[in-house]
Amino acid sequence: MKKAWILTLIFALACAGLNAQAALEEKLEQAGLVDVETLAAPLFFDIRYATTNNFTKKKIYDSPRCYLHKDAAEALLKAVELASQEKEPFTFCLWDCYRPLSAQKKLWQAVPNASYVAPPAKGSRHNRGMAVDLTPCDFDGNPLPMPTEFDNFTKRAHMDFYNLPKDILTRRETLKKIMTRAGFTYTRTEWWHFDKTGWQNNHPVLDIDLPR
Ligand SMILES: [Zn+2]
Repeated sequence: MKKAWILTLIFALACAGLNAQAALEEKLEQAGLVDVETLAAPLFFDIRYATTNNFTKKKIYDSPRCYLHKDAAEALLKAVELASQEKEPFTFCLWDCYRPLSAQKKLWQAVPNASYVAPPAKGSRHNRGMAVDLTPCDFDGNPLPMPTEFDNFTKRAHMDFYNLPKDILTRRETLKKIMTRAGFTYTRTEWWHFDKTGWQNNHPVLDIDLPR
C-alpha cells in the first residue's frame, strides 16, 4: 500500500514537471521565440553558459537549449545558406542565443563590469532573443580557427584587429560579410556576437526560463 502511494506521488511530480516545461515552451512561443534545434539547418550547439566552460567558470543557466526570436532565427537560416554557397562552405556552432534576464543577473553578479556584461537594468540583446554568439564550423561540428576563443576580452577579439594570420583574417571577414548580408549587425569588440537588425523595435527584455 505504502509503495503504491510513493509511486503515485512520483508520477504526480513527474507530470507536474512536464507541465511546467510545456508551460515554459508555450510562453517562449507566445513571445515569438523559436527552438533553433527544430529548424532544418546543419547547425551545432555548444551552449557555453549551460556549462562551466565560460569566462565566469560558473554554470549560468541549467538548460543547453537555443531559442531565438523568429526574425533572428530566419536571418540565421539565411546566414547558413550564404555560408553553404562560399567557395569553402561552412556552417555554424552556436555558443549563446536567448538568455533570460535572470541569467543576465547571474552573469552580472559574476562579473559586474559593463565592459564585459550588459547591466541587468539595461538588459542585453540576448535577453530579447535578438542576438546570437556563434563561430564558423565544419559540417562535422568542428570549430574552424578564428582570432580568439569565445568571450576573449582582449583587442585580438576586435573586428578591427588586423594583425592575424591571413586565413583567420579572411574567415573573420567572410563571417562579418555573411552575417551582415543575412540581416545582422556586428559588434566591434566581439567577433562572435551579432545583433539582428531592428532589435530596438518591439522586442522587450524577457525573463522566461529556458525549458530543459
Ligand atoms: Zn553575445
